[in-house]
Amino acid sequence: MDLQRSLFDDFENNDNVAEQSASKAQQPDTKAQQPEAKAQPTGDEARILELRETLNRHNHSYYVLNQPTISDQEFDHLMRELQDLEAQHPEFADPLSPTQRVGSDLSQGFQQVTHERPMMSLGNSYSIAEVQDFLRRAKDGLGGEPVEIVGEMKYDGTSISVTYENGRLVRAVTRGDGVRGDDVTANVITIRSIPLELPKDMDYPTRFEVRGEILMPWASFERLNKERAFNEEPLFANPRNAAAGTLKMQNSAEVARRGLDAYFYFLLGDNLPYKTHTEAMEAVRSWGFKVAHTEVLESIDAVSDFIERWDQDRKTLPVATDGLVFKLNSLRQWLNLGATAKSPRWAIAYKFAPERECTKLKFVSFEVGRTGVITPVANLDPVLLSGTIVKRASLHNEDIIRQLDIHDGDMVYVEKGGEIIPKIVGVDTKQRQPDAQPVKFVTHCPVCGTALQRIEGEAAWVCPNKWECKPQITGRIEHFVARHAMNIDGIGEEVAAQLHESGLVDNIADLYDLTIDRLVALDRFQLKSAQRIMRGIEQSKQVPFERVIFALSIQFVGETTAKVLARNVHNIDRLMAMSADELAAIPEIGPKIAQSIVEFFAVDSNRDIVERLRWAGLQMALSEQELASRTTKLEGKKIVISGVFQHHSREEYKAIIEQNGGKNVSSISKATSFILAGDNMGPAKLEKAQKLGIDIINEDQFLMMIE
Ligand code: AMP
Ligand code: ZN
Repeated sequence: MDLQRSLFDDFENNDNVAEQSASKAQQPDTKAQQPEAKAQPTGDEARILELRETLNRHNHSYYVLNQPTISDQEFDHLMRELQDLEAQHPEFADPLSPTQRVGSDLSQGFQQVTHERPMMSLGNSYSIAEVQDFLRRAKDGLGGEPVEIVGEMKYDGTSISVTYENGRLVRAVTRGDGVRGDDVTANVITIRSIPLELPKDMDYPTRFEVRGEILMPWASFERLNKERAFNEEPLFANPRNAAAGTLKMQNSAEVARRGLDAYFYFLLGDNLPYKTHTEAMEAVRSWGFKVAHTEVLESIDAVSDFIERWDQDRKTLPVATDGLVFKLNSLRQWLNLGATAKSPRWAIAYKFAPERECTKLKFVSFEVGRTGVITPVANLDPVLLSGTIVKRASLHNEDIIRQLDIHDGDMVYVEKGGEIIPKIVGVDTKQRQPDAQPVKFVTHCPVCGTALQRIEGEAAWVCPNKWECKPQITGRIEHFVARHAMNIDGIGEEVAAQLHESGLVDNIADLYDLTIDRLVALDRFQLKSAQRIMRGIEQSKQVPFERVIFALSIQFVGETTAKVLARNVHNIDRLMAMSADELAAIPEIGPKIAQSIVEFFAVDSNRDIVERLRWAGLQMALSEQELASRTTKLEGKKIVISGVFQHHSREEYKAIIEQNGGKNVSSISKATSFILAGDNMGPAKLEKAQKLGIDIINEDQFLMMIE
């Protein structure tokens, strides 16, 4: 009988089963099978193995214990030595080598895997009374036996199951629907705090599974969203969505870059020797995992204190939590109680109310973005909210200010709900000073003094002084050099301002007149930074046309729109010559975008900039190659993609459809031409397709079709 497996099955109380398994658990085979004695490795192989072990150890100290044992340089040095040796000796390659943490940008697709033991969710409670009810039910179910309770954080990320064999990570699978999940091993390997290989001298079971939560720490989340805001990409609503989205990415190199973390809270396996959850978690911790903070609570008062304490203390944690989890400690009791169809009877989640703080509004500032839009920002007395200190909150626009009826010096309620930027959700009018004045929106640009204009049909005010208003100029430079645009390294906010103030760069075309000499002549400018910038500028001449369009800072033309334009218009001359009606006839280009493009190219100085960029050698058309590989084989076809594929990822299939003149649509209707179906197409989609008589084409047929 498999002790832990049955913990997750639904079954009636059965003391026999419990005793049998409990006694079996006394004589476990826990020791990892050490590999057969082999000749001792020598030379480079020995050094490779030694380096891997050393790096794994330092990695654990740094990412799990938060106690670095060597300097970053030393670490990098050892890593480079290992990389070099592995490059010289492909025969000693290991997918779990510490060098593999950086991931790869080859897309992989995800295999669906059936969980050995289903992954369940947890029942919820919202008050101490409900926790008491839970404990009473548990005791009743156990025939009145006493119970020991443990409390843990409920980490707010995405759950993961990771299996180890002989101390090596073999597979990581998402929860999926609880029965089947996606194999995301390649991405999980990039998470530095997850051990890939356990230290040899430890006493772990030959085969076991740990379950936990993959999280995006607040710091990584904020960095990522800042970057996305800058690139005009949609922001992640919260760290949970960001973690889940990142884990499902096709590009593990990007996953590696985003800084995920993981905490574990379950150990599963056959014939494990532990009697309690705390014992099992201590073991997991000793093997090198980051483990949930687990506390034994002796009484209901202790439970109550735990809730009160962590409702405060969780705000200082580096990761998001949305509550606590209470579990019975005895694994025998887990087995006896079993589970309902959805959740175990021996654990319950306790959810916190969303976090909100009251603080003083110091003043409202008005900030000018690169497109001239004015954003009102509330500057606050610093307050701790969900793990970060909040000093500023967006007030969005004039309408919101009016709705909140916010006055100078008000005490305001701040929430960090879904969005990255905290928001003000209300005002405590009782604490308002009698002479306080309502906050007024500015009428003139706070930087250049130009009278603001209101964008028709929108709540936003803009400074129309596009070509002389400093934050708009430097904002456009920063946007131009951003990673998703021209990707020129070394020009951040400060350097952009410095380039502008020194008179070297007034607009983006001026960047191509820069020289090393001119850069190093600037105040505090290092030769190295100058070289880096010049290298980036040179490389930007190869950046594809679609990103050049994006980099121009045409209002409303984000990354996706720029792609659509490049694909449909092919070169800059046509783009500049098109009328608003012609542009609006392109699918996905609305009248507002069309108008903005026409207005942009109507300005002489913008046309000049384009000419200078062309002269500098930037890509002003789709490449020959891109044009040549385009066909009209799918012209006019609306295609739905469904299921899991073997040869290409979904994203690749989308690109292939577009390359061949087709259109990828998300839902099935009468207008759908056919469905490109992989494995496990959803039953609802299948039924709908059959009802409407729409063809279902598999991967191979599709690839033949466009051959
Ligand atoms: P819910 O998704 O609200 O049903 O909550 C259940 C989920 O909470 C589980 O699937 C886990 O992903 C997550 N969780 C977070 N922290 C813990 C913890 N300490 N113990 C168990 N589950 C946890
Ligand atoms: Zn201005």
